[in-house]
Amino acid sequence: MASETYLSLTPFLFAMANTVFSVSLATAGIFFVSLVEENEVIAMPVQRSIQGGCQCGRIRFITSQAPLDVNYCHCSMCRRATGGLFATLAWFPLEHLAWSSEQPAWFRSSKMAGRAFCPHCGTPLAMLYDGSNQIGLLLGSFDDPLPFAPTHHYGIEGRLAWVDIQGHLPARITEDDPAPH
Ligand SMILES: [Zn+2]
Ligand SMILES: [Zn+2]
Repeated sequence: MASETYLSLTPFLFAMANTVFSVSLATAGIFFVSLVEENEVIAMPVQRSIQGGCQCGRIRFITSQAPLDVNYCHCSMCRRATGGLFATLAWFPLEHLAWSSEQPAWFRSSKMAGRAFCPHCGTPLAMLYDGSNQIGLLLGSFDDPLPFAPTHHYGIEGRLAWVDIQGHLPARITEDDPAPH
């Protein structure tokens, strides 16, 4: 259909017209498209979906929202949960996240939070504080993590001395904010 063709081309044309603006919007996970109705051009925001999932592909998630926050967490629980030296978490409104295939399994990692993972391949996927309306998805499970650079460190007291990553970013210790985000 003609209208669908126009919509698919519009982000490219828009980028040609204003490269800087287009890049900044793309970083936020948002594209602008234009709709043509009876010779009127109406610019409106359309949010690009963010998708990801586990290594075996049986657990997939999708959200249409840009993350509210992206951070490194150096706490020992995140190290254990990911098997990595720190976790990188992107926080989204829980109500806007959908598990688009099977549901993940959950492990109760502390008295205040649980961790989602794939019960088939073991990939860690998310953490959720009890009663919170935000879920922290592990950035490494995104199909395209590149646009979502972390903006701060959390649990910095747990950082391993030889972990040297983006030390210029703001950092908080766990005691300052026991249940972040
Ligand atoms: Zn899996
Ligand atoms: Zn942590």
